[in-house]
Amino acid sequence: MDFNKIKELDAKNYMSTFNRQNICFERGEGSKLYDTVGKEYVDFVGGIAVNALGYNDPELVSAISEQCKKLIHVSNLYYNETQARMIDKLLSLGIFEKAFLCNSGAEANEGAIKLVRKYFYDKGEQRSTIITMLDSFHGRTLATLTATGQEKYSKPYAPLPVGFKYVPFNDLEALKAAITPDVGAVMIECIQGESGVNVATYDYLVNTYALLKSKGILLIIDEVQTGMGRTGKMYGFEHYGIQPDIITLAKALGGGVPIGAVLAHGDVANAFKPGDHGSTFGGNPLACAAAEVVIDKLKNGLIDTACDIGDYMLSRLSKLKKYNFVLDVRGKGLLLGLQLSPKLSGAVVVSKMLSAGFILNCAGHNTLRFAPPYIITRQEIDDMVDALNKIFSETNI
Ligand SMILES: *Cc1c(COP(=O)(O)O)cnc(C)c1O
Repeated sequence: MDFNKIKELDAKNYMSTFNRQNICFERGEGSKLYDTVGKEYVDFVGGIAVNALGYNDPELVSAISEQCKKLIHVSNLYYNETQARMIDKLLSLGIFEKAFLCNSGAEANEGAIKLVRKYFYDKGEQRSTIITMLDSFHGRTLATLTATGQEKYSKPYAPLPVGFKYVPFNDLEALKAAITPDVGAVMIECIQGESGVNVATYDYLVNTYALLKSKGILLIIDEVQTGMGRTGKMYGFEHYGIQPDIITLAKALGGGVPIGAVLAHGDVANAFKPGDHGSTFGGNPLACAAAEVVIDKLKNGLIDTACDIGDYMLSRLSKLKKYNFVLDVRGKGLLLGLQLSPKLSGAVVVSKMLSAGFILNCAGHNTLRFAPPYIITRQEIDDMVDALNKIFSETNI
């Protein structure tokens, strides 16, 4: 189908929720994407931190093809071998004892919120309030957009669920002041991806963890973007030496096939009883076959690859701080941000880079966000940084 026809159909038929770039991709290979006229692009968005293995990974393609021939979906009313195997591998990676599977990040966060509430409900404690951070992002469902500490996502959707309150990120005193007897949990990202790759400081997260422990308040880390090796460790929280009670996963977990997860340890992991929560599609054999490949590859060295190449990319991008309109370069592993001065529109840089054959996106606070596949090469990074350098050198502000 001709590109103009595609755009015409989209404009006519799709609810107008996205500001789409003027491009349509047809296929991908490794870290590269090809549009409908065959032009090649190096992908530094990675489906927004989803395509950890890049495109057309032979093992991922083969695992899901083989699984399709057996079963794509079977109800969670029955046992499922692929699911059992995948979850066991997933839990073997860390401190968590139990998992629940769903289909997206928002659903995983909904599950975590419900798990916390059920836990305190069973204990007969009135502790339904959850503290989240300003500038956070937790999803688009009613509860998760309320958890998201950014009015622009929630304002039109009132009345919103009750039981959330917000504090500034990286501000321990504000958190302390917000703790009241009704607070059951704090939900936080260790790196706020959507609002511009804002990294929790080491002291903040370590002290937050100690504070919450001392008050019997649960810690939920939203690892939807930072999990599965993205930051150079399996989970982002591992950079801080803490042990959250609950984490949520999605994005990279299925390497592109939709799957989300809630992982928990301790008593809260046992709060759900039959009938308390559920999902029709969650943890279906197809998605689990995909996640199993991602987990196997991460275990077999892909995390170290992400860590090394991430360090390289950070050092290359940091050289661009020589421009006075590059305010900051930050992040961990392969989740990096380059913050631009408000004088230079990130959206304009993104579209110039697209013409040059590099896919970037602009997250919150005018910050270019980089979340490429873990198989991105030094050469691809060098080429991208050179292209960015060229655009910056031609900028007069
Ligand atoms: C993307 C994201 C979500 C929402 O995930 P969906 O799969 O779009 O529902 C939630 N939390 C964080 C931190 C995210 O980056």
